[in-house]
Amino acid sequence: MRIWAVANQKGGVGKTTTVTALAGLLAGEGKRVLVMDLDPHGSLTSWFGYDPDTLSHSAFDLFQHQGKVPDGLPAQLVTETRCRNLSLIPASTALATLERKMVGVEGMGLIVSRALTQLWDDFDYVLLDNTPSLGVLMVNALAAAQHLIVPVQTEFLAIKGLERMLHTLEMITRSQRNRLEYTIVPTLFDRRTQASVKSLNLLRKTYPDELWRFAIPVDTKFRDASEAGKVPSDFDPETHGVRAYRRLLADLQDQMARSGKRAS
Ligand code: ADP
Ligand code: MG
Repeated sequence: MRIWAVANQKGGVGKTTTVTALAGLLAGEGKRVLVMDLDPHGSLTSWFGYDPDTLSHSAFDLFQHQGKVPDGLPAQLVTETRCRNLSLIPASTALATLERKMVGVEGMGLIVSRALTQLWDDFDYVLLDNTPSLGVLMVNALAAAQHLIVPVQTEFLAIKGLERMLHTLEMITRSQRNRLEYTIVPTLFDRRTQASVKSLNLLRKTYPDELWRFAIPVDTKFRDASEAGKVPSDFDPETHGVRAYRRLLADLQDQMARSGKRAS
């Protein structure tokens, strides 16, 4: 199982879109894919047609057992989607109450990791979608992930925020055995605008090693895909946005193979 987290402390930068795009492409390759919604807003959950306001079972249930994950619970939360090979552990809005409830609970940062251990043989890839706020949910995702994908909008202010995000990341993952490697993915790129082009150049200069070599373009098909409740590659496999994500996926897979972090 290979576990990737998609995170950025800024909202609206393309995190959820990145999760559905990559998950859809992996599922299309025949991989068994699980996406997990760790954002109380539940955009990923809504994307697949479930209502985070009314769901009675969700990722929230994992956090209700004093830091332990009962046998069989993660499997009960796995929900089918209309995309073949792609399953979902949905979010419910109750996730928003966790920050308060989890203070001082032992093992509270390892719940997602423990839940996924139980599903280890059931899935080839897991993608974790995250809330923009740094708290217990994001800590869980970072502890579980083998690689982090950081979508960044190609816009000056977003890049300023990135610096802060990477700094907190360093602090959170300092205690982990291996440094969590990350890939910065420029999103919502519009090559006709100076702002986009300049920001991309700035990113290249500032993060030469972590920056993905291409960018995800602005493509209205992503919004259409979410309205249709389909993964982008099922909605339109050849739109330029999906093509860009296909290239990103290939690069990520190459990178994983090279760094020897093979799926166990
Ligand atoms: P986040 O999860 O970071 O909050 P989303 O993936 O939900 O961001 O994207 C925010 C909004 O921007 C959504 O309406 C989505 O459809 C749109 N969007 C995301 N990526 C793109 C893109 N590459 N081109 C056009 N619209 C996009
Ligand atoms: Mg989102």
